[in-house]
Amino acid sequence: MSLETQSSARPRKKTKASVRKKYLKVPYTYVRLLVSVLLTFIIILGVSLYRLSQYQMAERTKQSEYEELLVEYNRLETEANELLAKLNMVEYKNDSTQVTLNRQAAKLNEQDAKYSQELDEFTKKTEELQGQLEELEKAKQEIVNQLNEIPYLPGITNLTLEEPIPLAVSYSSDPIQLLSYKLDSMNDIANAELSSYQLLTDTFEEIKPILNNYPSIWPVKGKTTSGFGMRQNPMGGTSTEKHYGLDIAVPMYTDVKSTGGGTVTLAEYSGGYGYLVVIDHGMGMETYYGHNSELLVSVGNVVERGQAVAKSGSTGNSTGPHVHYEVRVNGKPVNPVNYVTLSD
Ligand SMILES: [Zn+2]
Repeated sequence: MSLETQSSARPRKKTKASVRKKYLKVPYTYVRLLVSVLLTFIIILGVSLYRLSQYQMAERTKQSEYEELLVEYNRLETEANELLAKLNMVEYKNDSTQVTLNRQAAKLNEQDAKYSQELDEFTKKTEELQGQLEELEKAKQEIVNQLNEIPYLPGITNLTLEEPIPLAVSYSSDPIQLLSYKLDSMNDIANAELSSYQLLTDTFEEIKPILNNYPSIWPVKGKTTSGFGMRQNPMGGTSTEKHYGLDIAVPMYTDVKSTGGGTVTLAEYSGGYGYLVVIDHGMGMETYYGHNSELLVSVGNVVERGQAVAKSGSTGNSTGPHVHYEVRVNGKPVNPVNYVTLSD
């Protein structure tokens, strides 16, 4: 108040504007300087703030990018784990499949071995059977041969059987097929054998009575001193005669056996034969037993093979104790040697 009063007291001519001008002259410079400084500061601050915000934005972008990457990474990791789990599962399944397969293979091998063994055994049995069939065929052929060797079998002339069927040949590489083929063939053979055995059995039934009666053993055991056929007259001289039987030397009173079953048709003293027994065997076959000392049967007696019908001697035209043995077929003398087919 006092200052204002003082100034107004000095120059009253001074205007208000000039006063203001004078008053402001110095501070204005300061103000300008201050303003400049402030502006500079503000500019620097603004630039710095802008830079900072830019940096922060960049940082934020980086951060979000990083987070996105992290999420992606986690997703990938999860997927990888899932995949791994699946792979493990597949591997496990593979393993278990392998184990199952191995087990099945082992089982199959075992079965195969067992099967193979059974097949071997079966093959062996088949071969045994085949061998037996062959034996049977041989035995049958032997019987047929023996039957055919019998010199006189009325009604049975040369018994022939069908040729044996050979085992069929197969070239299959399959053992089962081969075996099956062989078995089929053997079955055919067995059937053929069976029917030929049936024929043989029928033949035997037919000739059984004939065979029982058939003169087929020696009447006595001894040395044959004279055979069947032409010979010098044993009673002396140089003439020859036909000998219708065999002379068998035996001690006196030896049992003279009937050589087959039959009926006595003659039992008496008969000229040069001495005491003679004649047996009818049927089928037109007769046997004669001469030079006996004693007769054990009478006409009409039925005798069996091996039965004693007389005691040996030297009656009739005889030079010593012996049996004159004759076989006649339909009245015709034949060589008795051929009829001795059985041993007693
Ligand atoms: Zn004689």
